[in-house]
Amino acid sequence: MSKCSVLIIEDEKNIQNFMVKVLKRHDYRVLCADNGTQGLELIRSQCPDIILLDLGLPDMDGDQIIREVRTWSSIPIIVISARTAEREKVLSLDLGADDYITKPFGTSELLARIRASLRHSNRLRTDSSLYIRPYRHREMVLDFSKRLLTIRGQEVHLTPIEYKIVAFLAQNSGKVITYASILSNVWGPYADDDNKILRVNMANIRRKIEDDPAQPRYIFTEVGVGYRMAEDEEE
Ligand code: CA
Repeated sequence: MSKCSVLIIEDEKNIQNFMVKVLKRHDYRVLCADNGTQGLELIRSQCPDIILLDLGLPDMDGDQIIREVRTWSSIPIIVISARTAEREKVLSLDLGADDYITKPFGTSELLARIRASLRHSNRLRTDSSLYIRPYRHREMVLDFSKRLLTIRGQEVHLTPIEYKIVAFLAQNSGKVITYASILSNVWGPYADDDNKILRVNMANIRRKIEDDPAQPRYIFTEVGVGYRMAEDEEE
């Protein structure tokens, strides 16, 4: 099997070096660019399997790269972002980035983000919609074909809306999903862009699935951006 290739577009050498070291150790093929122009050249010539993209580049905005790449490719893009930049994160997700990772980040977080995005893009390419295997994490199992959610083998009763929210997050497990994306997926394209109805439903879901809703283990809040469901545990 050939190695997965990762392109890192990042001008901060210490962050770039850290990522190169981690990814090589985990058997990825790694390409690096220090600026946007070089990054775009490598995307076109090397067709990497995934892109890690810093938004603040010396010659252009990372957003420009997302826009450009999305005109011709659905290759997964993970944005490397500063801690407090919620608006920036939402904007890059709306432009077509798949996820983001916030500086400073550790090895396991970096690897988990890459794994989730690669898995999701493989699924979109190969999976038949007739069969999706159940989502599993810790004691939770969500069987999509039966529309059945169990925790420790006990059925959890969800309203139809609650089920749609949980199922959508589970199908995208490990990835951040924006409020806007959940609203339009669950309530349809003409959904109100008010997040309140979503927050109310999420509070009810958490009461049903989490032992301690204030310390969730299954669905996490990404402040100002959306929700992320714990990564599916593949056998
Ligand atoms: Ca930078």
